[in-house]
Amino acid sequence: MDASTFECTLRARSNYRQGEPITVTFEIRNAGQETYRLLTWDLPLEDEPLNFLTVTRDGNDIAYDGKLLRRGSPLAKEYINLAPGASKSVEVDISRIYPVQAPGEYTVTLNATVHDVYAIAEDAAPTHALDEFEPLPLAETSVSFTLSRGDPPRMTIGQAIRLEEPPLSAERAATPFLEGGTPTQRNDTISAHNRAASLARRAGDRLRGNNPDSLYYRWFGANGQAVPPYPPTLRDLVDGNYYTIANRLDGFPPVVYNLQMIDCTPNVHAWTVVNSGKVFLCKPFLDAPVYPGFFCKSMTLVHEWVHAACGIAGDPASGESACLNLARTNPRKAIFNPDNYAGFVNEL
Ligand SMILES: [Zn+2]
Repeated sequence: MDASTFECTLRARSNYRQGEPITVTFEIRNAGQETYRLLTWDLPLEDEPLNFLTVTRDGNDIAYDGKLLRRGSPLAKEYINLAPGASKSVEVDISRIYPVQAPGEYTVTLNATVHDVYAIAEDAAPTHALDEFEPLPLAETSVSFTLSRGDPPRMTIGQAIRLEEPPLSAERAATPFLEGGTPTQRNDTISAHNRAASLARRAGDRLRGNNPDSLYYRWFGANGQAVPPYPPTLRDLVDGNYYTIANRLDGFPPVVYNLQMIDCTPNVHAWTVVNSGKVFLCKPFLDAPVYPGFFCKSMTLVHEWVHAACGIAGDPASGESACLNLARTNPRKAIFNPDNYAGFVNEL
C-alpha cells in the first residue's frame, strides 16, 4: 500500500457568491487489490470535517479556523471499509472551517493523512489503539474557484467562538472563568490549569539557552535552523511557545473553561479554536486524573493551549508512541504537534 492506493479528487463549482455555502466534494477511491479499513479522523469522511486542505486566495495562504481537538483512541464507528474499486464521496461546506470570505481566486489542495489504514484480514482488529496506528499521507490534488461579491460572508466556527468575549472581572485576578461543572470538576480544572501554567513556564526556562537536553531530543528531535519568520532555531520556537502558553494562562483577561460538554464526541478530551481564550472540556477530560499521565487533565490543557494560544492548527500525530516517532523522523513537524508539547512537560 502506498499513496497511489487511494485516488482522491476534489470538485467545486467554478464560481461562488459571498454568503452562500462553499460546497466542495471530496472523493476517495480504493485503487488497490485488497479491502482496506481507514480511520476517518481529519478527513471529510468524518461527521464534522477538520483541517484537511491547504487554501489560498490569490496565492496567499488562508489559515484553518475550525475546531482543534485532543483525542484518545478511536471508536469502531470512526473507521470505514473500502473494497477494491469502491469509492466514497462527501460534500463539505468549507466556509465553516476556512475563512473563504474576501472576493478572489481560491485554490484548495488536499493536505491530509489517513491516520490509520490497514488491509482487512479475517482476524483484523476492528480498531487500533493510538500506538498501533499505520498512517498514510494522501496524494495532493487541487481545485480552484472564484468568489464574487454577494451577501455578508459566512462566519467560521473560530470567528463565532471568538465573538463570545470572556466576561470582564472586577478584579484583575488571573483565575480562570468556569462555565458549568460540579464543584469537584471545577476545582480539578483550576488545579490542572495551575499545573499546566507552571509546567509551561518550567519548560520555557529549561529550554532557554543551548544546554544539551536529552528530554528535548526525545520529544522534539534534533534541533536545527527554523524557517523565517520563526526564531533562529526549532528549539527557540518551542521555547517561545511554552512562554506564550504560560503568559496566557497567567495573564489577563482570564481564560475560560466550559465544562458543559458542548459539541463533544466520546473520545475527545477537549477542543478549542486558534487565537482563543476558551477551551471546551469533554467527558474523557473530566474523568482523567489532574496529574500526571500523558492523558491527564494538565497535559490536555497544555495540548489545547498550544492550539489556542500559539495558533498551531493541526495534530499530525496523537498519542505517546506516534509523537516519539514523529520526533525521531520529522522534527520540523514535531515542533508543530501539540501532543509532543504535552509529552515533554509530562516528563519534567
Ligand atoms: Zn489537538
